[in-house]
Amino acid sequence: MSVRFFNSLTRSREPFLPLEPGRVRMYACGPTVYNFAHIGNFRTFVFVDALRRHLKWRGYELLHVMNLTDVDDKIIRDARAAGLPLREFTEKYIRHFWEDADALGIERPEVAPRATEHIPEMIALIGRLTRCGCAYHSDGSTYFRIASFPRYGALSGGKLAGNVAGASERVEADEYEKDDARDFALWKRSQPDEPAWDSPLGPGRPGWHIECSAMAMKYLGESLDIHCGGVDLMFPHHENEIAQSEGATGKPFAKYWLHAEHLLVNGRKMSKREGNYYTLRDLLERGYAARAVRYALVAVPYRKPLNFTLEGVEAAERRLKRLNETVRRLREAKSVVAEAADDAATTIAQARKAFGAAMDDDLNTAEALAAVAQLETAVNIALTRGELSEPFKRTALAAFDDVQTVLGILDPPEEALLDAAVEALIAERMAARQARNFARADAIRAQLAAQGVLLEDGKDGTRWRRA
Ligand code: AMP
Ligand code: ZN
Repeated sequence: MSVRFFNSLTRSREPFLPLEPGRVRMYACGPTVYNFAHIGNFRTFVFVDALRRHLKWRGYELLHVMNLTDVDDKIIRDARAAGLPLREFTEKYIRHFWEDADALGIERPEVAPRATEHIPEMIALIGRLTRCGCAYHSDGSTYFRIASFPRYGALSGGKLAGNVAGASERVEADEYEKDDARDFALWKRSQPDEPAWDSPLGPGRPGWHIECSAMAMKYLGESLDIHCGGVDLMFPHHENEIAQSEGATGKPFAKYWLHAEHLLVNGRKMSKREGNYYTLRDLLERGYAARAVRYALVAVPYRKPLNFTLEGVEAAERRLKRLNETVRRLREAKSVVAEAADDAATTIAQARKAFGAAMDDDLNTAEALAAVAQLETAVNIALTRGELSEPFKRTALAAFDDVQTVLGILDPPEEALLDAAVEALIAERMAARQARNFARADAIRAQLAAQGVLLEDGKDGTRWRRA
């Protein structure tokens, strides 16, 4: 086993050696919850998910933290426009984010902290930075003093000029209050009608960058193994995270930095600002399957830009249909020969190995899917010729299991489908009860019981289990 990643910090492909053998502490920058995430955002989250799944599949114990940015300028602006308190406004988009993530087969991180629930940790970190001379107060706000951190720019190659000229849409506007135009806000004085937290720094709210440093260090310690996100976050966000964290602790913040390239539309980054985006819902409404969207996003290695087209999703759908059909036929096939022909067994074993090796190689999903195609061809030949043996079937199914564990692109097996059917019947029973159609409700309970599914009605709805 030799997992390798391209580390943005060293600009080279390196063997992955976590700080503690066998254990990975990983932080991924999460969504800003002021609207639906678009599928450009989800390209990055699907990449993080493949990374997460691959590490677990390779046997690492994983602690993965992803923050939810639930306070920032755009959130405040849009919550006000919607006439809602911040919490109520963001709650809705957090819910939608998880719904979309679930539909895309994205596993939940172990911890998903909200910025607004970690203000004391941020204030403490800013206090630490102030005491060591890395931060200063000015006119009610607190800024990070870039001059105090000589290594600033190590990650992005020193694009300092960009911090002044607005490389990010989130560069603070109030630059005249800073000692140096490069400095960035850690704590922002709130305007009278803006949400504010009381603090020794004065009433205000945190800057965006400090959130991630505070929450990453709270859950993962002062030094972590992997920090990841989209490539647009490298500067200034990740650069600032390094400056704040290392400025306060004097220790290296993250050992490996991984950045996903953008999802593009006609060569331009998909973004809310450009208006050239689709949400997952847009695509589902057009009749595309969430799994096809996932496939289209994951099929191109994460360090290559990916041009999004509807034709691309359609091609993914056709590809998945064939693949799922092969797996289904394999599952249902009765083995007809005692032993597989040597060459077929070898092909399967090689393809399985090639799949793992491609993923080890900085998550080369294109190569990994080429190995899946070899697997599929070998299985189809065996099925067509009626040369399927029990060991061949077992190995091939195990190989598809690997593919599913790591990439999550296949249809769930029958049992899981059945789960969805059970849920649907429970929902129908609930509706029948609400309509006082108790006969129908009872019939559904009996039907489920006949299939070995037992219901328990409680305060919070109906739970079920298999008998
Ligand atoms: P945001 O909600 O804007 O904070 O972004 C959430 C994540 O989506 C970040 O990791 C961004 O880098 C990433 N992201 C934003 N736009 C794109 C895009 N067009 N392609 C890939 N990732 C993106
Ligand atoms: Zn972040």
